[in-house]
Amino acid sequence: MSIRHLSDVLVSQIAAGEVVERPAAVVKELVENSLDAGARSVTVQIEEGGVRRVVVADDGSGIPVDELPLALARHATSKIDDLAGLETVASLGFRGEALASVGSVARLRLLSATADAAHAWEIGMEGGVSQPVRPAAHAVGTTVEVRDLFFNTPARRKFLKSPPTEAGHCEAALRRLALAHPQVAFAWSIDGRQRQELAAHDLPLRVAALLGREFAAAALAFDQRAGDVRVHGFALPPGSDAGKDQYLFVNGRYIRDRMLAHAIRECYRDMLHGSQAPACVLFLELDPARVDVNVHPTKAEVRFREPQAIYRLVYHAIHPLLARPVAAFTGVSGGLDGVPGGWAGGGAGGLDTLSWAGVPASAQQAGLPLPAAEPAAGPWGGAHPSSAPAAPVVPPGDSAPPLGYALGLLHGAYIVAQNADGLVVVDMHAAHERILYERLKSQMDARVESQTLLEPLALTASAEAVSVVDGHADELRALGVDVAPLGPQQLAVRAVPTLLSRADPQRWLPRLLQEWADFGQSGALQARRDSFLATCACHAAVRAGRQLSVAEMNALLRELEQTERGGHCNHGRPTWRALPLAELDALFLRGR
Ligand code: ADP
Ligand code: MG
Repeated sequence: MSIRHLSDVLVSQIAAGEVVERPAAVVKELVENSLDAGARSVTVQIEEGGVRRVVVADDGSGIPVDELPLALARHATSKIDDLAGLETVASLGFRGEALASVGSVARLRLLSATADAAHAWEIGMEGGVSQPVRPAAHAVGTTVEVRDLFFNTPARRKFLKSPPTEAGHCEAALRRLALAHPQVAFAWSIDGRQRQELAAHDLPLRVAALLGREFAAAALAFDQRAGDVRVHGFALPPGSDAGKDQYLFVNGRYIRDRMLAHAIRECYRDMLHGSQAPACVLFLELDPARVDVNVHPTKAEVRFREPQAIYRLVYHAIHPLLARPVAAFTGVSGGLDGVPGGWAGGGAGGLDTLSWAGVPASAQQAGLPLPAAEPAAGPWGGAHPSSAPAAPVVPPGDSAPPLGYALGLLHGAYIVAQNADGLVVVDMHAAHERILYERLKSQMDARVESQTLLEPLALTASAEAVSVVDGHADELRALGVDVAPLGPQQLAVRAVPTLLSRADPQRWLPRLLQEWADFGQSGALQARRDSFLATCACHAAVRAGRQLSVAEMNALLRELEQTERGGHCNHGRPTWRALPLAELDALFLRGR
């Protein structure tokens, strides 16, 4: 075959392969156009999974009649006109590709009216062939109807799933768009049945409407700025099952991002089960010039100009929120609001009721009057608690501390306590384990011991990893690692943290440095250390079956209240649960 130009229609159909993967992509592109047009209200109809018909109607600015043919033309957009515009684009669209692509693989009809037009106009396109503009009836705004998606590209149609599955994808796309634009009213229907109707909201209400009341009640709010970058949103405390999805938005655009996901995961380290992704809604707002949105055909991925600064901002917005101890919460209705745990979903702070009283620095020194069940292995053998005077048993009252006062030990495993709200049950072993673990970590943070190797060890590492060593030798030394470049892809290690002296540096150091290069800080070294400390804590923590005195139990409760991440053991299980009197009364059908 000789070389020749592809027809415009074929070019559009090829582009459609990237932009219009399935009906949900049509929904996304059309609604984004509505949002870019300043719509206050968007209505969507989906039929047979969106394959038979998708209709998106808005009350946005509309399209002037002389621009209607252009709206359907490839590479025609009203949103940018030069490279500077591309680099600072604030609208959701800018490629001028969506309508042309959709129109090349479906039957498209667009009706639109601007405020100053005498009446509306419509234009159509079928399989890439556009039809003449005609007068029509339509209020100010735009309606786009897309029928018979992939009617002329049967191969693509074969890849579609069942209508309910495709409809599910459409709804997922709508949820993301609606989450990012709470100030816009949304309504959508599937096969004629109304599925969602959202008035213009503030963000917390929108989150509650879309992710459920349980999520809204349990989620913790965060909001941080660094310069002109803002990150805010809501994250579930570890162990909460009030949601499972992660929504990341950059300047109102839903994205997937490995770096952001990593930063969030790091916040939950040693508080989550296995590979579970922490549920959250995160909005990042920054100058569009600081983020490149033109790296992916559907703009599902972005590239940050300063990824490390973003990583740190996100980490510092969420991490302290999850780590704070029970005693640091002051909810509206007493001590327990917002604290992870809660019986049957109760006792949580909610999106707007939470306040943060700062971490008390006191009481961290008092040792637990609990002898360790068995000596801890490794260099931390000496780290288990020393005896301290037993705390007095104070009669319960309104001023009871958050976890209350111990009443007794249930089956040698659970401390039963009474607080101002009702009943508290604490898993003795899990609680003690977390207390010891946090104490070991802070002892380690204060003093990192390093062990010099008998002779320097040569390692292979990526050029990026080697360059991290060049720039951060001092910081590495503070972590107990003495390492220097030996060649473009070679390192010489002279000392390692004592804790890791038995592990092969080739296995952890290159990874640590690579992470540092990618994200600007590394949790890898700490993660290794922490998993070792966690094992120590688990072995040293008091075992079920040991009888504790009431004074010992109270001491454990007080210490747990002050412990960071005290709500969960390091496997993500809760350490305590509360059953307020009101719920007890309900259990006994007692009206109060
Ligand atoms: P892009 O959004 O990248 O500009 P599209 O193909 O999605 O490309 O749309 C082309 C143009 O059509 C847009 O730039 C805009 O001017 C116009 N347009 C599309 N949909 C609407 C709408 N709902 N309201 C107003 N204008 C619209
Ligand atoms: Mg568009």
